[in-house]
Amino acid sequence: MPMFDEDNITKFKELETPFYYYDLNILRETLDACTNASAKYGFHVHYAMKANFNPKVLDMIQSYGIGADCVSGNEVKAAIEHGFGKENIVFAGVGKSDKEINLALDADIFCFNAESVQELFIINDLAKAKNKSAAIAIRINPNVDAHTHHFITTGLDENKFGINSWQLPDVVDALRKCDSLKFLGIHFHIGSQITDMEVYKNLCTRINEMQDWFADHGFEVKLLNTGGGLGVDYHNPDTNGTADFESYFKVFKDFLNVKPGQEVHFELGRALVAQCSALISRVLYVKNGQKKNFLVLDAGMTELIRPMLYQAYHQIENLSRESESNERGVAANRQSPTVHYDVVGPICESTDCFQKDVEMPESYRGDLIAIRTTGAYGEVMASGYNLRDRVGSVYSE
Ligand SMILES: *Cc1c(COP(=O)(O)O)cnc(C)c1O
Repeated sequence: MPMFDEDNITKFKELETPFYYYDLNILRETLDACTNASAKYGFHVHYAMKANFNPKVLDMIQSYGIGADCVSGNEVKAAIEHGFGKENIVFAGVGKSDKEINLALDADIFCFNAESVQELFIINDLAKAKNKSAAIAIRINPNVDAHTHHFITTGLDENKFGINSWQLPDVVDALRKCDSLKFLGIHFHIGSQITDMEVYKNLCTRINEMQDWFADHGFEVKLLNTGGGLGVDYHNPDTNGTADFESYFKVFKDFLNVKPGQEVHFELGRALVAQCSALISRVLYVKNGQKKNFLVLDAGMTELIRPMLYQAYHQIENLSRESESNERGVAANRQSPTVHYDVVGPICESTDCFQKDVEMPESYRGDLIAIRTTGAYGEVMASGYNLRDRVGSVYSE
């Protein structure tokens, strides 16, 4: 299903750019697909809020009964404000401050995903001071290669996240000493934009080994939290707009050794929200050079930093030229000559480039440009660098 038609392009022409456009139908279709696939196996899904905390997006996700996966105290607060039940909130992060831990204890969240032995003692002390008991899952670094970009890999020994397996004896010592902690189970998160299901199969093997290790040491594992990371198709947002939730959950169904009474949890961010949004921008200037042509947009790394931060690919479309050719009844790009452009932003940094050498219809000042699949890690990473205006949002309904 194409995201844009004459109606919304006409509407965009009246609006100030840049802005994030949210197609709530696409979000709904994605959430339907995810919840239908996970419900088959009784799996619990949490939404990794850091991917997008736009209020309308949060409200819709919450309405599906999905839980919240938070990585800061303010995310815990926002989850509660948007109606996520406290019994459905988990809190991860390598650097939880005392203030954030206290906030989460006061909110009686479901579980802390603890990322170091030292953190266990701190949560224990803070919980004891409040006469509370804190539920804990141990985030284990499984040393599984996510086969994704190394900037977004989190589950290797060299990464800062989680507790390495050779430290687990210290973990059980700590758990025995900390009487204000309640051990629930184990947690993993190995990286993002993972599309190779073999990776998750390998993760299942490690989870099975780890839960046996805990059981052998006298700890009942009630919860297996496999984290998130399921990838989306950045190259075909219209023809392949929904992540492959069916295959994803089925791998865990087939390869995870789930014991009676155990709960299996997931923390999906990108796969739920990436495709529902596009960054809409205008061409400010066209610079034709001897070696290169530049399209200078009114959006830059201050609105979308993924290409600059992770070398990420996003499909770029000229909506004005495509709508013109559609009006003539011919497919885009056929009639009008194409030009290779470096598509850049206005920010005073050479890295402020969305993509080099993009083949596009010949473009002009004022053309509307869509940068696709920007619902995850887009708006949330916007910054005020160069004292730019805060990027706006526009909704399909
Ligand atoms: C970011 C994050 C996720 C979600 O990752 P996606 O790739 O967006 O699915 C899940 N769990 C934790 C602990 C995270 O930090």
